[in-house]
Amino acid sequence: MANLAKISNIEALSVLDSRGNPTVQVFIYSDQGHLESSIAPSGASTGSKEACELRDADPKLYHGKSVQKALDNIQQEILPKAMGFQLGDQRAFDDMLIQLDGTANKTKLGANAMLACSQAYAKLSATAKGLALFEYFDIDAEKFLIPTPMMNLINGGAHADSGLSIQEFMVMPLGVQTMAEQVRAGSEIFQTLKKLLKQNGHSIAVGDEGGFAPQLKSHEQALDFLVQAINESGYTAGENVFICLDVAASEFYKDGAYHMLVDGSTQEFSSSQLTDYFVELVEEYPIFSIEDPMQEQDLEGWKLFSEKLGDKIQVVGDDYLVTNVELIQKAIDNQSCNAVLIKPNQIGTVSETVDAINLAKNNAFNTVISHRSGDSEDSFIADLAVGMQAGQIKTGSLSRSERTCKYNRLLRIEQLLSK
Ligand code: PGA
Ligand code: ZN
Repeated sequence: MANLAKISNIEALSVLDSRGNPTVQVFIYSDQGHLESSIAPSGASTGSKEACELRDADPKLYHGKSVQKALDNIQQEILPKAMGFQLGDQRAFDDMLIQLDGTANKTKLGANAMLACSQAYAKLSATAKGLALFEYFDIDAEKFLIPTPMMNLINGGAHADSGLSIQEFMVMPLGVQTMAEQVRAGSEIFQTLKKLLKQNGHSIAVGDEGGFAPQLKSHEQALDFLVQAINESGYTAGENVFICLDVAASEFYKDGAYHMLVDGSTQEFSSSQLTDYFVELVEEYPIFSIEDPMQEQDLEGWKLFSEKLGDKIQVVGDDYLVTNVELIQKAIDNQSCNAVLIKPNQIGTVSETVDAINLAKNNAFNTVISHRSGDSEDSFIADLAVGMQAGQIKTGSLSRSERTCKYNRLLRIEQLLSK
């Protein structure tokens, strides 16, 4: 590392995310002439304990969503510390950011400012070392692992106006071997689903993550369409392609009850009624994984759900754990779920993201690397998933470039690794 390049400049820019809202892009230069960049993503159904996404709250600019303060923080606070910083030591760089911020939740610098810098630093360090980004993470090169994707084909909840309470209806080609074949399966099922929805008079417009957003009367109807699309595409639901759900239950929890769509109307559920509802769904449909089945503070609900279903399916904490090692450790201790969604911008630096993944893996928790519903052309998470051997990735549908760029990067990594 002795002669490794140093940071010679950082520039920050307000650019648009896939929802058309402003976000932070960082350009980082080395004294050896290299340049890399990274863009912070942005969630819609966010967990309350996520690191702070700093926005200006000026109603005259971008409906309050402008990110000028985050850009100023990069230019005025981070740049002076980063100038001359040696590349290749992610932990030291991220520690510098964390110390400079000095708050529990990254409210001073903003996790959007910090993550864009941290990811850009990772990319530039990889380049300076002559490595592909996925090779940069601190993992044994023999063990790079292409993750199996969860592909979000029907969008509900906060990601669409479909009326569905469950936010994401995904297919996961667990029994299909390569990324090339998995992408093909996802694409074929996506196109079949489009045809089926159209034939049945439903909208084929897509939601935030590129899945369809039809106005269906029930979750079962969405699941039936998925099963039919899988089987009509030449795959077998429950054999080589499975279904995953992200319930995002915090979004429809209000005044002590879950207000969920059932047969065209909204009904109230307690945690135990909601658990029973999912027990039945798991009996009826080939479901491999359910994320956030309970709202983030309903510990008893989470425990009950995991007691009933934890040995049958993967139970993923997203809003519940927000990529935070303390919360993940509690879930491990409580056995309240058995997997964690990993979103780098929930915690704000690459090193802390790596810590969250390692903690989970060391405790037999599955890890699913994830995009955000507001995302960009930055495919950082594809490399992260491979380098960290996460095993699974969730990066939306087989449409919209901010989703397909991650699949396309995974295809390229698979090609590189097969040489
Ligand atoms: P978000 O959705 O990016 O809007 O939070 C993704 C998810 O809930 O998994
Ligand atoms: Zn989620």
